[in-house]
Amino acid sequence: MNLPERLARIEMLVCDVDGVLTDGRIVYTDRGDEIKAFHVRDGSGLKLWTSLGKHAGIITGRRSAIVERRAEELGIHAVVQGAADKKAALVQMLAQLGLKREEVCVVGDDIVDLPMLRVAGLAVAVADACLEAKEDADYVTQAPGGGGAVREVIELILRAQGSWQAIVARYRE
Ligand SMILES: [Mg+2]
Repeated sequence: MNLPERLARIEMLVCDVDGVLTDGRIVYTDRGDEIKAFHVRDGSGLKLWTSLGKHAGIITGRRSAIVERRAEELGIHAVVQGAADKKAALVQMLAQLGLKREEVCVVGDDIVDLPMLRVAGLAVAVADACLEAKEDADYVTQAPGGGGAVREVIELILRAQGSWQAIVARYRE
């Protein structure tokens, strides 16, 4: 399948967190807290995405209350943290929602994401992903993780499906 055909089928977007929704840095404070920085346009893009009735999910190998909070803020209900097997988490997520593999786009940045990238209908690696993730991806973003990569993917899919233009027109009225 070529890229336009893959893009046309996507109904769900599943993102890794560290290095995809963030730039990959995990900042520790003296108080033992962790700090992650998210990109505001990834967030607004995800809100637009779900407002169209599309599904969004998060699968991360780590665990953090910050992720819970960000997901809640964005209305993302499918969240798996501490996923030892990201592919299994993805397959289960799709089964619960009744979606096919061709209908999911996965965005990753590292080796641990390869198994879930390889089952996705559209595999995306961020610009600063590891080499292998980029090799296995159907699309590599221009933007780096935490720098609008997820927004870029959302726009790419919605443009291909013809909905992005309608969204923009609504805001330009
Ligand atoms: Mg990662």
